[in-house]
Amino acid sequence: MRTDTFCGGIAETNGYLLTDGREAVAFDAPEGMADFLDARLRESGAKLAALLLTHGHWDHIVDAAAIRERFKAPVMIHRDCARLLEQPAVQAAFNPFVEVLPCIPDRRLDAETKLELGPFCFGLLLCPGHCPGSLCFHYAAKQWLFGGDVLFAGGVGRWDLPGGSQKALIASIREKIFALPEDTKVFPGHGPATTVGRERRGNPYVH
Ligand SMILES: [Zn+2]
Ligand SMILES: [Zn+2]
Repeated sequence: MRTDTFCGGIAETNGYLLTDGREAVAFDAPEGMADFLDARLRESGAKLAALLLTHGHWDHIVDAAAIRERFKAPVMIHRDCARLLEQPAVQAAFNPFVEVLPCIPDRRLDAETKLELGPFCFGLLLCPGHCPGSLCFHYAAKQWLFGGDVLFAGGVGRWDLPGGSQKALIASIREKIFALPEDTKVFPGHGPATTVGRERRGNPYVH
């Protein structure tokens, strides 16, 4: 089992590919992610089982429609973020540069706490505060967390965008993410990976 990181677009957004060599799951769809997946999946021969979106902000969904079309993979997002994906124009004020094609999610995640996709089983952590419907995907088999824009190395997601709340964000981190084991590796939506233990001890926003 391995994780490959892609970083693309003007917001330097991370997308991730988790694969066991036969099947794969992608997290988020920054600009250029479709081509990255194309190259990696061609190389390994793995099949894309799904595109999982941590939230609906434009920089995380630029390539969602292309990935859905190109790989015939279902796109999944929390229902509270679905409108951002279906009508990306509602975010135009925050995104003056990049055209984002609308994408209809194949599955709107709701109150599920687990998601099974082929060989992968994820715990779903609903972590609002940065964006309503922000999901962190916990791959417990490896203690990996694909966290989106909730917790960063030495930082947290911004809370000043529509639907954001600093209070909710800090509560999400403390109650959901910090409840995971110390050595859980966090793969965030921007910047380098970190661990739950490192952020619990040293993250200035959560202290
Ligand atoms: Zn975001
Ligand atoms: Zn972001």
